[in-house]
Amino acid sequence: MTSPTDGLRCRECGRLFGSEARYVCEWCFGPLEVVYDYDAISGRVDRARIGRGPLSIWRYADLLPADPGGAVDLGAGYTPLIRADRLAAELGLGELWLKDDTRNPTGSFKDRVASVALTRARELGFKVAACVSTGNLANSVAAHAARAGMECYVFVPTDLERTKITTTAVFGVRVVAINGTYDEVNRLCAEIVDEHEEWAFVNINLRAYYAEGSKTLAFEVAEQLGWQLPDHVVAPIASGSLLTKIDKGFAELGLVGLVAGDQRVRISGAQAAGCAPVARALVEGKSVPTPVRPETIAKSLAIGSPADGEAALKSVRASSGSIATATDAEIIEGIRLLARTEGIFAETAGGVTIACLGKLAHDGIVRHDERVVACITGTGLKTVEAFGDAAGPSAVIEPTLDAFAALEDDWRNPE
Ligand SMILES: *Cc1c(COP(=O)(O)O)cnc(C)c1O
Ligand SMILES: [Zn+2]
Repeated sequence: MTSPTDGLRCRECGRLFGSEARYVCEWCFGPLEVVYDYDAISGRVDRARIGRGPLSIWRYADLLPADPGGAVDLGAGYTPLIRADRLAAELGLGELWLKDDTRNPTGSFKDRVASVALTRARELGFKVAACVSTGNLANSVAAHAARAGMECYVFVPTDLERTKITTTAVFGVRVVAINGTYDEVNRLCAEIVDEHEEWAFVNINLRAYYAEGSKTLAFEVAEQLGWQLPDHVVAPIASGSLLTKIDKGFAELGLVGLVAGDQRVRISGAQAAGCAPVARALVEGKSVPTPVRPETIAKSLAIGSPADGEAALKSVRASSGSIATATDAEIIEGIRLLARTEGIFAETAGGVTIACLGKLAHDGIVRHDERVVACITGTGLKTVEAFGDAAGPSAVIEPTLDAFAALEDDWRNPE
């Protein structure tokens, strides 16, 4: 088996293409999507078959565009879905769950997409992997390329968090830091891929396959809720791919009969106030976001010209969701709130999600009577610098009992 799918289809004009490394329609330049034969898949897949699968994204291989037999696998996915009663109480919500994707092999949900993309890349005969990244994808592609024994090139903006450079370079890959925004790096890479057709650029010429990996987050949520869909999901938006694919993932579960087919999960988005092109388009009633120049500590979400912004807007509007935004200060507060109430240390994107969840709850958009899932997409260990000195020791004292007693006294009688 080379591919379990029926090729690629243009999202705009509907023309069909083979299962190859191609990212735009040659007729209308529309984005391409993987095509599945859902009737055939529904005859094959059932809950028991999935239940016997590996504890990773590959348990859903029937709905992924690559052969699990050759999976480039570090164990991405099957992350915990955690009931968050203390956070729910703080936000005035009822049943709240957290999808804890900080627990992936390199600490973010990007391991899902990298695993699928590199598996498909290897099937298509590629020996070299590449990506353009706001940080986490660089980690994931580098790690999975190392696992697969593939050569690897990673392109990032220079202003990335130091840790995300280290945790990529350690895998022995070429990290090219570029003086520019993510959108400028992306534009350059679209030209590089024309010069290097022998490279599997996971989010350019393999984007259709890569993006499918994000559906597994939705599949897991449904399975972990006992094969029920939540009422409302809140997800962060950078390119808009994750949010769009969560929506598609829930729809597919209905199409193949794994859940009742008539429920539409509401999908709401979360963006940094300093990079909110999709949120703004929603408010202004536009179908295509106007590009912005990002200015936010949420660097993993700093995409000013989101490739799937239009698709994300459609998902949000069609599901009666909304999109909130969070300032830098609110992002830090969101990270602290999540850590303090639930014991999870998220990166800045998680701070955006929690801050926006709070606003959506306050505005009555995410409701107390809904079963809500918030997506915590990356670990805080890679973005500690966002805190500066704001999270240091409570006190520094000499190694004597007297010094500690004096400190306890201060704590008891603060002035
Ligand atoms: C990339 C990323 C996102 C958003 O992903 P898109 O699919 O580009 O919208 C969210 N959270 C984290 C931590 C990320 O790295
Ligand atoms: Zn087309």
